[in-house]
Amino acid sequence: MRYCSTRNAADTVSAAEAVKEGIAPDGGLFVPAARLIANDELRGFAGDYQELCVKVLSIFFPEFTAGELQGVVAGAYGGGKFPLPAVAPLSEAGGVYFLELWHGPTCAFKDMALQVLPRLLPLAVAKTGAGADIAILVATSGDTGKAALEGFRDVPGTRVIVFYPEEGVSEMQRRQMVTQEGENVHVVAVRGNFDDAQGGVKAIFRDKKIKEVVGAGGFRFSSANSINWGRLAPQVVYYFHAYNRLLARGRLSAGDRVNFVVPTGNFGNILAGYYAWKMGLPVNKFICAANSNNVLTDFINTGTYDRNREFYRTISPSMDILISSNLERLLFEAAGRDDRKIISWMEELASEGRYTVDRNTSQTIRDLFWSGCATDEETMDTISSFFTAHGYLADPHTAVGINVYNKYVARSNDETPAVVVSTASPFKFNRSVAGAVLGKDAVRSHSEYELTALLAAETGREIPPALQNLETRPVLHSDVVSKEGMKEMVVRLLS
Ligand SMILES: *Cc1c(COP(=O)(O)O)cnc(C)c1O
Repeated sequence: MRYCSTRNAADTVSAAEAVKEGIAPDGGLFVPAARLIANDELRGFAGDYQELCVKVLSIFFPEFTAGELQGVVAGAYGGGKFPLPAVAPLSEAGGVYFLELWHGPTCAFKDMALQVLPRLLPLAVAKTGAGADIAILVATSGDTGKAALEGFRDVPGTRVIVFYPEEGVSEMQRRQMVTQEGENVHVVAVRGNFDDAQGGVKAIFRDKKIKEVVGAGGFRFSSANSINWGRLAPQVVYYFHAYNRLLARGRLSAGDRVNFVVPTGNFGNILAGYYAWKMGLPVNKFICAANSNNVLTDFINTGTYDRNREFYRTISPSMDILISSNLERLLFEAAGRDDRKIISWMEELASEGRYTVDRNTSQTIRDLFWSGCATDEETMDTISSFFTAHGYLADPHTAVGINVYNKYVARSNDETPAVVVSTASPFKFNRSVAGAVLGKDAVRSHSEYELTALLAAETGREIPPALQNLETRPVLHSDVVSKEGMKEMVVRLLS
């Protein structure tokens, strides 16, 4: 399989090239250059998670040998990194299934792909004969940063620089990042929100001068954000995995359709589900769940994407995003792979902050996607009521999913079995989760660290090892820059 840019469907590159570059030189995103076709082997596949992952990756990365991919996958998911044998267990509560993607080293779903990418990238670089070290720039809304740091720490030939919004992450998320060990890692706070950090990173990728400067120092840039195809491909796996678990448990018969509910920010997770659908996974609807930053909900419902709106800091910070990069990939497919349309919409987005797609494209998207949103108050209520009624403790992102799914069912009466994609451990967001479960007064005077213990005691859940004793680990990273200062910081760190 070869890859093209969403802004230039004619020229193609190899998978290794696409992963190494991260983003296409024209600013577009790499997508499979040919239409994906249904793969009958994946649906109903009886092997374990790692075997399924090798199968999926071998489709997307044909120039990698089976041995290479097995090594990548064993390194990513084996060796105790994901302690549960299922890797991503499927639990059940309140009439829905939860695909729990947060049993990896940093307790959020980003680990699913960011344990794979750091193993894939050095191989990709070797295959394309680039003689430089890779400098990975990451913009994070909280979870990607830590997962990238863990994934890339001490990987030879790589450096990682993570930019996070100074005021935009939970205390546990921040602490996880600033205590990161490793010889090749840097963590920098940006005065601004996630869109500022992501915009700053994209600007660096486009800046020829800075590329020359770091190039002279022996580095070339790549991305560990979900704009990198190497992030998306491993995420396709767990959609098939969830379906196959339901088949194995007799909850579905072959060919039955399911709904997936996905708490969404940058549109990476849900887009991986869309590619799984293209590869033959029987999906009825993808339910795109947003928080108050509901730019995607409005887009899916109206066909107009408009980022000119207030930005909210919510209790689901990993979804506090107004420019959802991966939507560009869906647009490309839904618009019949018409790169000229993508170029004009993305130009409008850059200049006006908004664009409207044609009716066909909009309808094509609505045939498969439904979207709703939840306020912080609704999210808190959902965490509390779902725990009380069903004993299931959801983090705020997952709770947004539950809330929006309930709205969907009320509106549609759709009885298709639903899988809520559960994206983070509740302990990563314990101020909100403990507040919802124990009441706001009970949590007011406690630090996040104290709340970890309190929440565990109250709910009988175990604190994930990665989140234990965070407060006693030394802070190793304290740089803060303005959005404008990001370039200079990159140059300084890489020289
Ligand atoms: C990143 C993240 C999301 C959003 O995923 P996208 O791929 O950006 O849409 C949702 N929940 C959690 C916990 C996350 O870390």
